[in-house]
Amino acid sequence: MEKIVFDTELVKRYDGPGPRYTSYPTAVQFHEDFAADDYARLARLSNAKSDMRQLSLYVHIPFCHSLCYYCGCHKIVTRTPGVAAQYLEYVFKEAALHAELYDQDRPVLQLHLGGGTPTYLSDAEMRLLMEGLSRYYPLLSSGDREYSLEIDPRTTGPEMLPLLAELGFNRLSMGIQDFDPQVQRAVNRVQEVDHTLGLIRQARDVGFVSVSVDLIYGLPHQDLDQFEKTLDLIVEARPDRIATYNYAHLPRMFKAQRLIREETLPSAQTKLALLRHIVEYLTDKGYEYIGMDHFALPEDELVTARNEGTLQRNFQGYSTYADCDLIALGVSSIGRLDTCYSQNLKLRKDYYASLDAGQLPVFRGVELGPEDVLRRQVIQGLMCQDVVNMNAIGQRFDIDFRSHFAAELEALRPLEADGLVEVSEDAIRVTARGRFLLRPIAMTFDEYLPAERQSGRFSKVI
Ligand code: SF4
Repeated sequence: MEKIVFDTELVKRYDGPGPRYTSYPTAVQFHEDFAADDYARLARLSNAKSDMRQLSLYVHIPFCHSLCYYCGCHKIVTRTPGVAAQYLEYVFKEAALHAELYDQDRPVLQLHLGGGTPTYLSDAEMRLLMEGLSRYYPLLSSGDREYSLEIDPRTTGPEMLPLLAELGFNRLSMGIQDFDPQVQRAVNRVQEVDHTLGLIRQARDVGFVSVSVDLIYGLPHQDLDQFEKTLDLIVEARPDRIATYNYAHLPRMFKAQRLIREETLPSAQTKLALLRHIVEYLTDKGYEYIGMDHFALPEDELVTARNEGTLQRNFQGYSTYADCDLIALGVSSIGRLDTCYSQNLKLRKDYYASLDAGQLPVFRGVELGPEDVLRRQVIQGLMCQDVVNMNAIGQRFDIDFRSHFAAELEALRPLEADGLVEVSEDAIRVTARGRFLLRPIAMTFDEYLPAERQSGRFSKVI
Protein backbone atom coordinates (compact mmCIF):
# COMPACT_ATOMS: atom_id res chain seq x y z
CA MET A 1 0.00 0.00 0.00
CA GLU A 2 1.28 3.45 -0.88
CA LYS A 3 2.32 5.49 2.16
CA ILE A 4 0.54 8.71 2.93
CA VAL A 5 2.39 11.98 2.82
CA PHE A 6 1.43 14.33 5.64
CA ASP A 7 1.87 17.79 4.18
CA THR A 8 1.34 20.20 7.08
CA GLU A 9 0.85 23.25 4.88
CA LEU A 10 -1.79 21.54 2.75
CA VAL A 11 -3.63 20.13 5.77
CA LYS A 12 -3.74 23.63 7.25
CA ARG A 13 -4.93 25.15 3.98
CA TYR A 14 -7.73 22.60 3.45
CA ASP A 15 -8.81 22.58 7.10
CA GLY A 16 -12.38 23.75 6.57
CA PRO A 17 -15.46 22.22 8.16
CA GLY A 18 -16.92 19.28 6.26
CA PRO A 19 -18.84 16.01 6.58
CA ARG A 20 -17.17 12.73 7.50
CA TYR A 21 -19.30 10.87 4.94
CA THR A 22 -20.37 8.00 7.14
CA SER A 23 -23.48 8.36 4.99
CA TYR A 24 -24.39 10.13 1.76
CA PRO A 25 -26.56 12.14 1.80
CA THR A 26 -25.39 13.19 5.26
CA ALA A 27 -27.71 13.44 8.28
CA VAL A 28 -28.29 17.13 7.51
CA GLN A 29 -30.56 15.96 4.68
CA PHE A 30 -32.72 13.77 6.91
CA HIS A 31 -36.21 15.26 7.22
CA GLU A 32 -39.35 14.54 9.19
CA ASP A 33 -41.54 14.02 6.12
CA PHE A 34 -39.86 10.65 5.94
CA ALA A 35 -41.87 8.57 8.42
CA ALA A 36 -42.25 5.00 9.65
CA ASP A 37 -44.54 4.11 6.71
CA ASP A 38 -41.87 5.14 4.21
CA TYR A 39 -39.32 3.03 6.00
CA ALA A 40 -41.69 0.03 6.14
CA ARG A 41 -42.43 0.28 2.41
CA LEU A 42 -38.73 0.40 1.49
CA ALA A 43 -37.84 -2.37 3.96
CA ARG A 44 -40.40 -4.70 2.35
CA LEU A 45 -39.07 -3.83 -1.10
CA SER A 46 -35.52 -4.63 0.01
CA ASN A 47 -36.45 -8.33 0.24
CA ALA A 48 -36.72 -8.49 -3.56
CA LYS A 49 -33.03 -7.67 -4.09
CA SER A 50 -31.25 -10.94 -4.74
CA ASP A 51 -27.78 -9.37 -4.40
CA MET A 52 -28.41 -7.88 -0.97
CA ARG A 53 -29.83 -10.62 1.22
CA GLN A 54 -27.60 -10.24 4.25
CA LEU A 55 -28.55 -8.09 7.17
CA SER A 56 -26.58 -5.96 9.54
CA LEU A 57 -27.98 -5.15 13.00
CA TYR A 58 -27.06 -2.17 15.14
CA VAL A 59 -28.28 -1.84 18.72
CA HIS A 60 -27.76 1.43 20.57
CA ILE A 61 -27.29 1.10 24.34
CA PRO A 62 -27.46 4.73 25.46
CA PHE A 63 -26.56 4.40 29.15
CA CYS A 64 -23.30 5.46 30.79
CA HIS A 65 -22.24 5.37 34.44
CA SER A 66 -20.54 8.77 34.31
CA LEU A 67 -20.06 11.68 31.97
CA CYS A 68 -16.90 12.12 29.88
CA TYR A 69 -16.64 15.86 29.36
CA TYR A 70 -15.57 15.65 25.70
CA CYS A 71 -18.56 13.51 24.75
CA GLY A 72 -20.78 14.43 21.82
CA CYS A 73 -22.67 11.10 21.68
CA HIS A 74 -26.30 10.47 22.39
CA LYS A 75 -26.17 9.03 25.92
CA ILE A 76 -28.01 8.91 29.24
CA VAL A 77 -25.87 9.13 32.36
CA THR A 78 -27.61 7.16 35.08
CA ARG A 79 -27.12 4.53 37.76
CA THR A 80 -30.82 3.86 38.31
CA PRO A 81 -31.31 0.12 38.89
CA GLY A 82 -33.44 -1.66 36.29
CA VAL A 83 -33.12 1.05 33.67
CA ALA A 84 -31.31 -1.19 31.15
CA ALA A 85 -33.66 -4.15 31.67
CA GLN A 86 -36.65 -1.95 30.85
CA TYR A 87 -34.86 -0.55 27.80
CA LEU A 88 -34.14 -4.03 26.48
CA GLU A 89 -37.85 -4.86 26.64
CA TYR A 90 -38.47 -1.97 24.25
CA VAL A 91 -35.58 -2.96 21.99
CA PHE A 92 -37.26 -6.35 21.63
CA LYS A 93 -40.59 -4.70 20.81
CA GLU A 94 -38.83 -2.75 18.10
CA ALA A 95 -36.99 -5.86 16.87
CA ALA A 96 -40.34 -7.62 16.50
CA LEU A 97 -41.76 -4.78 14.39
CA HIS A 98 -38.74 -4.79 12.06
CA ALA A 99 -38.79 -8.58 11.82
CA GLU A 100 -42.29 -8.42 10.30
CA LEU A 101 -40.86 -6.44 7.37
CA TYR A 102 -37.93 -8.64 6.40
CA ASP A 103 -37.85 -12.15 4.99
CA GLN A 104 -37.11 -14.57 7.76
CA ASP A 105 -34.27 -16.24 5.90
CA ARG A 106 -32.07 -13.14 5.64
CA PRO A 107 -28.99 -13.90 7.76
CA VAL A 108 -27.45 -11.37 10.15
CA LEU A 109 -23.88 -11.22 8.92
CA GLN A 110 -22.96 -8.15 10.96
CA LEU A 111 -24.02 -7.10 14.43
CA HIS A 112 -22.76 -4.09 16.33
CA LEU A 113 -23.57 -2.80 19.81
CA GLY A 114 -22.77 0.87 20.22
CA GLY A 115 -23.49 3.56 22.73
CA GLY A 116 -23.44 5.11 25.19
CA THR A 117 -21.85 2.09 26.80
CA PRO A 118 -22.86 -1.43 25.71
CA THR A 119 -20.94 -2.84 28.69
CA TYR A 120 -23.33 -0.90 30.93
CA LEU A 121 -25.41 -4.09 30.58
CA SER A 122 -24.81 -6.71 33.25
CA ASP A 123 -23.67 -10.17 32.18
CA ALA A 124 -27.25 -11.41 32.52
CA GLU A 125 -28.63 -8.50 30.47
CA MET A 126 -26.05 -9.07 27.74
CA ARG A 127 -27.12 -12.71 27.53
CA LEU A 128 -30.76 -11.64 27.50
CA LEU A 129 -30.10 -9.20 24.66
CA MET A 130 -28.51 -11.81 22.42
CA GLU A 131 -31.21 -14.38 23.21
CA GLY A 132 -33.87 -11.78 22.47
CA LEU A 133 -32.34 -10.79 19.13
CA SER A 134 -32.01 -14.43 18.09
CA ARG A 135 -35.76 -14.84 18.55
CA TYR A 136 -36.37 -12.36 15.73
CA TYR A 137 -33.42 -12.74 13.36
CA PRO A 138 -31.24 -15.59 12.11
CA LEU A 139 -27.98 -14.83 13.92
CA LEU A 140 -24.98 -16.69 12.53
CA SER A 141 -22.80 -19.05 14.50
CA SER A 142 -20.18 -19.53 11.77
CA GLY A 143 -16.83 -17.72 11.65
CA ASP A 144 -18.08 -15.55 8.76
CA ARG A 145 -20.04 -13.36 11.10
CA GLU A 146 -18.73 -9.97 12.13
CA TYR A 147 -20.21 -9.36 15.59
CA SER A 148 -18.69 -6.44 17.39
CA LEU A 149 -19.25 -4.08 20.27
CA GLU A 150 -17.75 -1.08 21.97
CA ILE A 151 -16.50 -1.80 25.45
CA ASP A 152 -15.66 0.65 28.19
CA PRO A 153 -12.73 -0.81 30.16
CA ARG A 154 -14.07 0.88 33.30
CA THR A 155 -17.23 -1.24 33.16
CA THR A 156 -15.70 -4.43 31.78
CA GLY A 157 -14.72 -6.99 34.39
CA PRO A 158 -12.65 -10.15 33.79
CA GLU A 159 -15.72 -12.33 33.24
CA MET A 160 -17.28 -10.13 30.56
CA LEU A 161 -15.01 -10.95 27.60
CA PRO A 162 -15.34 -14.77 27.88
CA LEU A 163 -19.11 -14.27 28.06
CA LEU A 164 -19.11 -12.01 24.98
CA ALA A 165 -17.05 -14.58 23.05
CA GLU A 166 -19.49 -17.30 24.10
CA LEU A 167 -22.39 -15.15 22.88
CA GLY A 168 -20.80 -14.89 19.43
CA PHE A 169 -18.91 -11.59 19.52
CA ASN A 170 -15.58 -11.75 17.71
CA ARG A 171 -14.56 -8.10 17.36
CA LEU A 172 -14.40 -5.27 19.84
CA SER A 173 -13.36 -1.70 20.13
CA MET A 174 -12.48 0.09 23.34
CA GLY A 175 -12.24 3.73 24.25
CA ILE A 176 -8.88 4.70 25.71
CA GLN A 177 -8.45 8.33 24.55
CA ASP A 178 -5.29 9.03 26.58
CA PHE A 179 -3.52 7.23 29.45
CA ASP A 180 -2.16 10.39 31.03
CA PRO A 181 -3.71 10.87 34.52
CA GLN A 182 -3.90 14.67 34.20
CA VAL A 183 -5.71 14.43 30.85
CA GLN A 184 -8.00 11.73 32.21
CA ARG A 185 -8.95 13.84 35.22
CA ALA A 186 -9.58 16.90 33.04
CA VAL A 187 -12.11 14.99 30.93
CA ASN A 188 -13.55 12.99 33.85
CA ARG A 189 -12.56 9.62 32.44
CA VAL A 190 -10.07 7.91 34.70
CA GLN A 191 -9.13 4.39 33.66
CA GLU A 192 -6.22 2.21 34.65
CA VAL A 193 -3.48 1.36 32.20
CA ASP A 194 -2.88 -2.21 33.43
CA HIS A 195 -6.55 -3.17 33.41
CA THR A 196 -7.09 -1.69 29.94
CA LEU A 197 -4.06 -3.37 28.38
CA GLY A 198 -4.97 -6.60 30.17
CA LEU A 199 -8.32 -6.55 28.37
CA ILE A 200 -6.56 -6.38 24.99
CA ARG A 201 -4.55 -9.50 25.90
CA GLN A 202 -7.61 -11.25 27.30
CA ALA A 203 -9.65 -10.49 24.18
CA ARG A 204 -7.05 -12.36 22.10
CA ASP A 205 -6.94 -15.25 24.55
CA VAL A 206 -10.69 -15.77 24.38
CA GLY A 207 -10.78 -15.67 20.57
CA PHE A 208 -11.60 -12.13 19.44
CA VAL A 209 -10.17 -11.82 15.92
CA SER A 210 -9.92 -8.04 15.95
CA VAL A 211 -9.33 -5.53 18.73
CA SER A 212 -9.57 -1.85 18.01
CA VAL A 213 -8.72 1.06 20.31
CA ASP A 214 -9.88 4.67 20.13
CA LEU A 215 -7.61 7.59 20.99
CA ILE A 216 -8.44 11.30 20.95
CA TYR A 217 -6.03 14.12 20.23
CA GLY A 218 -6.78 17.72 21.12
CA LEU A 219 -7.82 17.02 24.74
CA PRO A 220 -6.79 19.26 27.66
CA HIS A 221 -3.08 19.23 28.62
CA GLN A 222 -1.99 17.11 25.67
CA ASP A 223 1.35 17.72 24.04
CA LEU A 224 3.71 15.65 21.91
CA ASP A 225 5.92 14.18 24.65
CA GLN A 226 3.01 13.39 26.89
CA PHE A 227 0.93 11.76 24.13
CA GLU A 228 3.83 9.65 22.91
CA LYS A 229 3.78 7.79 26.23
CA THR A 230 0.21 6.70 25.47
CA LEU A 231 1.19 5.71 21.93
CA ASP A 232 4.14 3.67 23.27
CA LEU A 233 1.86 1.72 25.61
CA ILE A 234 -0.75 1.14 22.93
CA VAL A 235 1.63 0.03 20.22
CA GLU A 236 3.30 -2.40 22.59
CA ALA A 237 -0.09 -4.07 23.17
CA ARG A 238 -0.45 -4.30 19.34
CA PRO A 239 -4.20 -3.87 18.83
CA ASP A 240 -5.28 -4.75 15.28
CA ARG A 241 -6.75 -1.32 14.69
CA ILE A 242 -6.24 2.15 16.11
CA ALA A 243 -8.63 5.02 15.55
CA THR A 244 -7.37 8.51 16.41
CA TYR A 245 -10.13 11.08 16.60
CA ASN A 246 -9.81 14.82 16.61
CA TYR A 247 -11.50 16.43 19.63
CA ALA A 248 -13.75 19.17 18.27
CA HIS A 249 -14.55 21.62 21.05
CA LEU A 250 -18.12 22.73 20.38
CA PRO A 251 -19.50 23.69 23.82
CA ARG A 252 -22.49 25.48 22.34
CA MET A 253 -23.58 22.25 20.68
CA PHE A 254 -22.53 19.75 23.40
CA LYS A 255 -23.34 20.74 26.96
CA ALA A 256 -20.85 18.30 28.53
CA GLN A 257 -17.97 20.12 26.83
CA ARG A 258 -18.71 23.26 28.85
CA LEU A 259 -17.05 21.42 31.75
CA ILE A 260 -13.72 21.50 29.93
CA ARG A 261 -11.53 24.51 30.75
CA GLU A 262 -10.73 26.10 27.43
CA GLU A 263 -7.37 27.46 28.57
CA THR A 264 -6.14 23.87 29.05
CA LEU A 265 -6.82 22.89 25.42
CA PRO A 266 -3.84 22.56 23.07
CA SER A 267 -3.48 25.23 20.39
CA ALA A 268 -4.37 24.53 16.76
CA GLN A 269 -0.65 24.37 16.05
CA THR A 270 -0.09 21.72 18.75
CA LYS A 271 -3.05 19.73 17.47
CA LEU A 272 -1.62 19.75 14.00
CA ALA A 273 1.77 18.66 15.35
CA LEU A 274 0.04 15.91 17.37
CA LEU A 275 -1.76 14.66 14.29
CA ARG A 276 1.41 14.61 12.25
CA HIS A 277 3.24 12.82 15.02
CA ILE A 278 0.49 10.19 15.36
CA VAL A 279 0.56 9.49 11.63
CA GLU A 280 4.34 9.21 11.46
CA TYR A 281 4.60 7.23 14.69
CA LEU A 282 1.96 4.63 13.81
CA THR A 283 3.08 4.13 10.23
CA ASP A 284 6.67 3.83 11.46
CA LYS A 285 5.52 1.10 13.87
CA GLY A 286 4.02 -0.93 11.05
CA TYR A 287 0.40 0.27 11.01
CA GLU A 288 -1.18 1.08 7.67
CA TYR A 289 -3.34 4.13 7.18
CA ILE A 290 -6.84 3.08 6.14
CA GLY A 291 -8.32 6.56 5.81
CA MET A 292 -10.15 9.13 7.97
CA ASP A 293 -8.40 8.58 11.35
CA HIS A 294 -8.12 4.79 11.05
CA PHE A 295 -4.97 2.66 11.13
CA ALA A 296 -4.65 -1.14 11.01
CA LEU A 297 -1.99 -3.82 11.06
CA PRO A 298 -1.10 -5.11 7.56
CA GLU A 299 -2.72 -8.49 8.23
CA ASP A 300 -6.00 -6.94 9.42
CA GLU A 301 -9.06 -7.55 7.25
CA LEU A 302 -9.60 -3.79 6.80
CA VAL A 303 -6.28 -3.60 4.94
CA THR A 304 -7.23 -6.64 2.85
CA ALA A 305 -10.62 -5.12 2.05
CA ARG A 306 -8.98 -1.86 1.09
CA ASN A 307 -6.53 -3.61 -1.21
CA GLU A 308 -9.32 -5.66 -2.78
CA GLY A 309 -11.62 -2.68 -3.27
CA THR A 310 -14.37 -3.97 -0.95
CA LEU A 311 -13.85 -1.53 1.93
CA GLN A 312 -17.00 0.32 2.98
CA ARG A 313 -17.65 3.42 4.98
CA ASN A 314 -20.47 3.33 7.52
CA PHE A 315 -21.59 4.84 10.80
CA GLN A 316 -18.89 2.99 12.75
CA GLY A 317 -16.14 4.25 10.44
CA TYR A 318 -14.91 1.54 8.06
CA SER A 319 -16.20 -1.95 7.47
CA THR A 320 -15.29 -4.93 5.33
CA TYR A 321 -18.72 -6.09 4.27
CA ALA A 322 -20.71 -4.46 1.54
CA ASP A 323 -24.24 -5.27 0.52
CA CYS A 324 -25.95 -5.53 3.90
CA ASP A 325 -29.15 -3.73 4.77
CA LEU A 326 -28.69 -2.20 8.21
CA ILE A 327 -31.51 -2.44 10.78
CA ALA A 328 -30.92 -0.04 13.66
CA LEU A 329 -32.55 -0.58 17.04
CA GLY A 330 -32.70 1.73 20.04
CA VAL A 331 -33.00 5.44 20.69
CA SER A 332 -31.44 7.77 18.10
CA SER A 333 -30.01 4.92 16.02
CA ILE A 334 -29.69 5.28 12.24
CA GLY A 335 -30.58 2.51 9.79
CA ARG A 336 -29.56 2.21 6.18
CA LEU A 337 -31.21 0.40 3.30
CA ASP A 338 -29.94 0.57 -0.24
CA THR A 339 -32.50 3.27 -0.91
CA CYS A 340 -32.88 5.17 2.36
CA TYR A 341 -31.56 6.22 5.74
CA SER A 342 -33.89 6.34 8.75
CA GLN A 343 -33.37 7.60 12.28
CA ASN A 344 -35.15 6.69 15.51
CA LEU A 345 -36.59 9.10 18.06
CA LYS A 346 -33.90 10.51 20.31
CA LEU A 347 -35.70 10.79 23.64
CA ARG A 348 -36.30 7.61 25.58
CA LYS A 349 -39.83 8.56 26.60
CA ASP A 350 -40.83 9.25 22.97
CA TYR A 351 -39.18 6.04 21.84
CA TYR A 352 -41.07 4.04 24.48
CA ALA A 353 -44.37 5.80 23.69
CA SER A 354 -44.06 5.01 20.00
CA LEU A 355 -43.43 1.34 20.69
CA ASP A 356 -46.25 1.19 23.25
CA ALA A 357 -48.50 2.39 20.43
CA GLY A 358 -47.19 -0.40 18.19
CA GLN A 359 -45.38 2.06 15.89
CA LEU A 360 -41.85 1.89 14.56
CA PRO A 361 -40.01 4.77 16.30
CA VAL A 362 -38.68 6.30 13.06
CA PHE A 363 -38.89 10.09 13.23
CA ARG A 364 -36.90 11.18 10.21
CA GLY A 365 -34.85 9.95 7.29
CA VAL A 366 -34.27 10.37 3.61
CA GLU A 367 -35.18 8.32 0.56
CA LEU A 368 -32.39 8.23 -1.98
CA GLY A 369 -32.98 9.20 -5.59
CA PRO A 370 -30.85 7.82 -8.46
CA GLU A 371 -28.54 10.87 -8.32
CA ASP A 372 -27.90 10.25 -4.59
CA VAL A 373 -27.04 6.60 -5.24
CA LEU A 374 -24.65 7.61 -8.00
CA ARG A 375 -22.91 10.26 -5.90
CA ARG A 376 -22.73 7.92 -2.91
CA GLN A 377 -20.85 5.47 -5.11
CA VAL A 378 -18.37 8.12 -6.23
CA ILE A 379 -17.80 9.40 -2.68
CA GLN A 380 -17.42 5.84 -1.39
CA GLY A 381 -14.78 5.19 -4.07
CA LEU A 382 -12.80 8.24 -3.02
CA MET A 383 -13.09 7.61 0.73
CA CYS A 384 -12.43 3.85 0.66
CA GLN A 385 -10.52 2.91 -2.48
CA ASP A 386 -8.75 6.18 -3.34
CA VAL A 387 -9.93 5.76 -6.89
CA VAL A 388 -13.03 6.31 -8.98
CA ASN A 389 -13.17 4.47 -12.27
CA MET A 390 -15.15 6.88 -14.44
CA ASN A 391 -15.88 4.38 -17.19
CA ALA A 392 -17.12 1.69 -14.83
CA ILE A 393 -19.38 4.14 -12.98
CA GLY A 394 -20.58 5.59 -16.28
CA GLN A 395 -21.60 2.14 -17.50
CA ARG A 396 -23.21 1.11 -14.24
CA PHE A 397 -25.32 4.25 -13.97
CA ASP A 398 -25.79 4.76 -17.70
CA ILE A 399 -24.22 8.22 -17.80
CA ASP A 400 -21.33 9.93 -19.53
CA PHE A 401 -19.28 10.54 -16.37
CA ARG A 402 -17.26 13.42 -17.78
CA SER A 403 -20.21 15.46 -18.95
CA HIS A 404 -22.45 14.51 -15.99
CA PHE A 405 -19.77 15.65 -13.55
CA ALA A 406 -18.24 18.42 -15.69
CA ALA A 407 -18.60 21.03 -12.92
CA GLU A 408 -17.18 18.68 -10.29
CA LEU A 409 -14.18 17.79 -12.46
CA GLU A 410 -13.60 21.49 -12.95
CA ALA A 411 -13.79 22.03 -9.17
CA LEU A 412 -11.18 19.28 -8.72
CA ARG A 413 -8.60 21.20 -10.78
CA PRO A 414 -7.13 23.24 -7.87
CA LEU A 415 -6.88 20.04 -5.81
CA GLU A 416 -5.13 18.43 -8.74
CA ALA A 417 -2.76 21.39 -8.98
CA ASP A 418 -2.00 20.95 -5.26
CA GLY A 419 -1.19 17.29 -5.86
CA LEU A 420 -4.13 15.76 -3.96
CA VAL A 421 -5.64 13.93 -6.94
CA GLU A 422 -4.68 12.84 -10.45
CA VAL A 423 -7.39 12.89 -13.08
CA SER A 424 -6.69 10.74 -16.14
CA GLU A 425 -8.86 9.74 -19.10
CA ASP A 426 -10.69 7.05 -17.16
CA ALA A 427 -10.03 7.56 -13.45
CA ILE A 428 -9.74 9.94 -10.52
CA ARG A 429 -6.98 8.79 -8.20
CA VAL A 430 -6.20 10.11 -4.73
CA THR A 431 -2.44 10.61 -4.37
CA ALA A 432 -0.26 9.77 -1.37
CA ARG A 433 -0.50 13.46 -0.44
CA GLY A 434 -4.29 13.48 -0.85
CA ARG A 435 -4.93 10.43 1.33
CA PHE A 436 -4.96 12.63 4.38
CA LEU A 437 -7.38 15.06 2.78
CA LEU A 438 -10.16 12.74 1.67
CA ARG A 439 -12.91 15.00 2.97
CA PRO A 440 -12.23 18.03 0.77
CA ILE A 441 -11.82 15.72 -2.23
CA ALA A 442 -15.11 13.90 -1.58
CA MET A 443 -16.88 17.19 -0.84
CA THR A 444 -16.46 18.13 -4.50
CA PHE A 445 -19.11 15.52 -5.39
CA ASP A 446 -21.56 16.40 -2.61
CA GLU A 447 -24.56 17.99 -4.26
CA TYR A 448 -26.00 19.32 -0.99
CA LEU A 449 -22.88 20.86 0.46
CA PRO A 450 -23.26 24.47 -0.70
CA ALA A 451 -26.54 24.77 1.24
CA GLU A 452 -25.34 22.65 4.19
CA ARG A 453 -22.30 24.84 4.74
CA GLN A 454 -24.64 27.48 6.16
CA SER A 455 -25.63 25.13 9.00
CA GLY A 456 -22.17 25.31 10.66
CA ARG A 457 -22.52 21.78 12.07
CA PHE A 458 -19.54 20.08 10.50
CA SER A 459 -16.25 19.78 12.35
CA LYS A 460 -12.82 20.62 10.97
CA VAL A 461 -10.01 18.19 10.25
CA ILE A 462 -7.88 19.88 12.94
S1 SF4 B 1 -17.65 9.05 25.80
FE1 SF4 B 1 -18.71 7.12 25.82
S2 SF4 B 1 -18.66 6.49 27.99
FE2 SF4 B 1 -18.15 8.66 27.95
S3 SF4 B 1 -20.12 9.72 28.27
FE3 SF4 B 1 -19.81 9.56 26.06
S4 SF4 B 1 -20.85 7.70 25.45
FE4 SF4 B 1 -20.58 7.62 27.67
